[in-house]
Amino acid sequence: MDKLIFSFSNKSLKNNAKSKEILGGKGANLALMAKLGLPVPPGFTISTKVCEYFYKNNKKIPKKIIKQAKKEIKIIEKITKKLFGDLSNPLLLSVRSGSRVSMPGMMDTVLNLGLNDKTVIALKNKTENGRFAKDSYRRFIQMYGNVVLGIQSHFFEELIENYKLTKGVLQDTELDENDWDGLIQNFKDLVKEKNKKDFPQDVNEQLSGAIRAVFLSWDSKRAKIYRKINYIPDHWGTAVNIQAMVFGNMGQDCATGVAFTRNPSTGSKELFGEYLINAQGEDVVAGTRTPMNIINMGKSMPKIFKQLKKIFKELETKYKDMQDIEFTVENKKLWMLQSRSGKRTAKAAIKIAVDMVKEKLITNKQAVLRVDPNILDTLLHPTLDEKAEKIIIASGLPASPGAASGKVTFSSDEAERLKEQMQNTILVRIETSPEDINGMHASQGILTARGGMTSHAAVVARGMGKPCVSGSNEIKIDYEKKLFKAGSIEIKEGDIITIDGGSGKVMLGEIPTVKPDISGDFSKLMAWADKYRKLKVRTNSETPVDTKTGRDFGAEGIGLCRTEHMFFDEKRIISVREMILSNTPEDRKEALKKLLPYQKSDFFEIFKIMNGLPVTVRLLDPPLHEFLPKTDKDIYDISKELNISHQDVKFRITELHEDNPMLGHRGCRLGISFPEIYEMQCQAIFEALAQCKKKKIKLVIPEIMIPFVSTAAEIEILRNLVDKTAQKIQKTHSIKIKYYVGTMIELPRAALRANDIAKYADFFSFGTNDLTQTTFGISRDDSGKFLNDYVENKIFNKDPFVSIDERGVGELIKIAAERGRKQKKSLKLGICGEHGGDPASIEFCEKAKLNYVSCSPYRVPIARLAAAQAYLKKK
Ligand code: ADP
Ligand code: MG
Ligand code: MG
Repeated sequence: MDKLIFSFSNKSLKNNAKSKEILGGKGANLALMAKLGLPVPPGFTISTKVCEYFYKNNKKIPKKIIKQAKKEIKIIEKITKKLFGDLSNPLLLSVRSGSRVSMPGMMDTVLNLGLNDKTVIALKNKTENGRFAKDSYRRFIQMYGNVVLGIQSHFFEELIENYKLTKGVLQDTELDENDWDGLIQNFKDLVKEKNKKDFPQDVNEQLSGAIRAVFLSWDSKRAKIYRKINYIPDHWGTAVNIQAMVFGNMGQDCATGVAFTRNPSTGSKELFGEYLINAQGEDVVAGTRTPMNIINMGKSMPKIFKQLKKIFKELETKYKDMQDIEFTVENKKLWMLQSRSGKRTAKAAIKIAVDMVKEKLITNKQAVLRVDPNILDTLLHPTLDEKAEKIIIASGLPASPGAASGKVTFSSDEAERLKEQMQNTILVRIETSPEDINGMHASQGILTARGGMTSHAAVVARGMGKPCVSGSNEIKIDYEKKLFKAGSIEIKEGDIITIDGGSGKVMLGEIPTVKPDISGDFSKLMAWADKYRKLKVRTNSETPVDTKTGRDFGAEGIGLCRTEHMFFDEKRIISVREMILSNTPEDRKEALKKLLPYQKSDFFEIFKIMNGLPVTVRLLDPPLHEFLPKTDKDIYDISKELNISHQDVKFRITELHEDNPMLGHRGCRLGISFPEIYEMQCQAIFEALAQCKKKKIKLVIPEIMIPFVSTAAEIEILRNLVDKTAQKIQKTHSIKIKYYVGTMIELPRAALRANDIAKYADFFSFGTNDLTQTTFGISRDDSGKFLNDYVENKIFNKDPFVSIDERGVGELIKIAAERGRKQKKSLKLGICGEHGGDPASIEFCEKAKLNYVSCSPYRVPIARLAAAQAYLKKK
């Protein structure tokens, strides 16, 4: 069997540079820090393989592991000159989880392990610090009780609160040794009551209990949800790190803290962090005491501060990335407890990547690979309009930037419920805990009354790219009455507020927003990305506004212009309805004539903005009944307006009704039945070009796209129609027009018969929304009812409408690409539909050798970056 336990105690470090897969992130980093000679408390890591074994074998820890662990503890004992369970100088341990990728706060840690009624006395005598010894013991009972014995932590917290109330003090720090003694008794009673057993006094039992609990925490509900949201595979498992305790709670020359080597909110190269004097472990992040800014350490602990700064620099140089660090000071000695790549906002991610290129820490290729394209999303969206009038009702810490408005909700369940109704919410909590992860995901932004810049809410929100204002102690939340008070203002559940995570302000109502700034570091990174990508990026757009946005974001053409969206416009829908309600081709042509000028001017506006770049126009796609009135009043209005009897309108509606519109009279089938519709659309395209020519605007080369093709005959007929119309317009306007005709590939048959179809097509555009629907036989609109079950049961890894199903739909794309290009070498291939803006799908498109991807305007930069990464990764 492979080696399963790896020491990171300074003395036996050789051959231990194992990867994160085996050691977990925390274990690997502890080992590396120890190797660099940094002060790391001695310890060892039990590999993730053991976790795998644990779950495959009835949740049993192999005896061998416990035996080996005891051997490793001997080594720690030698280094620390303390003994585990000893009655004169006891060694205490911390038992820490750590998976491959960091899952902050999702899994469990037990501190101060090895304390019992006897060793606590030994610790007191040895350190001559009774308060410290008792404080550590009560913390241990509390953590062990919660993590290992499953007693909810609020029971312990309530005992402390009650105790403080009776004693008339506010802070934990005001409690002395005797108080902790009393609380220890209360805690033990609580354990006995809940667990029907005494708190375990045997230190070896404590140890195996804690190891077991860490493994079990991998399967906790919150860890599972976190993995699902972040696409972390369930089989990875967690490692267990066992390490000598160091104490930040031994007195005024002790401290514990969390710090980032750069500002994780803005990316600025400055120290960022918080610490607490005379405290332990999670006091800083738990929000029970308000921590101090790390800068103050320069005054209160200057030597340590200097040492820390030096270490930060060393770690950044080694990891070539911004680090998130945990440390503890025990009697003026600094100990490093953790270092990992820090979570950051999109803005910070870009600034840090660009700065690190400047600092020659990384290359611009590495910078391109460094930034997760998905997080750009938060940057591309609007921020608060500075000129808008605002009623600021409270402020807090600017924990995660961006602006968000929504209905106030006080519970994660409610936030989730409202999300289902497509409503925007702001989750308002006193503080968040890992149980709130679902609600944070469902809401637009998070507001907390307690907690610092490194609190749970702040860290998780930054990771999710959601705006967050934390620690707004001006608001008083009453969960029971479902309201909060900010000064004299009362905000009830359902009231709308706006938060600005960049400034920490909380405002009344919904505040208008403005476009983001995409110059500076952002454009620098994008320019590097453009240098390294092969895939072109286009945008899906049918309005001048979207077209402009897409171009501003760097789109190199339009990949999908859906003409039906132009039909829905209020002024035109009448003519569209008239056309549909016509009984003869002649009447239909008359109605279409009225639509022509509208379509022409739409195309003209778009062509003007695109200024010579390619524009793919899709001819009418949806079934005609989609345009007909639905309510009685609308039916009445239209019959009056068009002077058709009410009865006739109703009759036509019934006639056009389809049981399954997704597979009905739509796409090219409309062009076959009603050629005059497609003819009018082509006429509009070509006449718009003629107008461009007249106005000396650079001519776009339109790519006319026929939707929903499944046979070569369809495209043969419709291509003829396009060509004939083109000839006609060329003659009447005596111009020469260049254009292409192609198809959407969105039906499996079309993919399979791509060689025939390519005879008549200059390009294919993969309509992956419909192709996914028709390949799986799943209607996207109805899939909501079972998609979750499919993801839950691991039938789908991801929603196939979000990320392309490479093995099925992808296979069809590859077949179509190959067969199509065999027939016609010059065939241009692209993809439109949601997948065009999804980084994982873009990686697939690069592998499948497509020419371009097309996505919604706001995703264009995401696609540019993802395309560069796909190319660099392939190389
Ligand atoms: P998480 O992954 O949730 O951050 P950690 O394993 O890092 O959990 O433990 C949480 C906190 O416990 C740390 O930030 C640190 O303050 C404290 N801690 C962990 N190990 C030790 C140790 N050996 N000595 C003192 N404190 C420790
Ligand atoms: Mg930690
Ligand atoms: Mg389609």
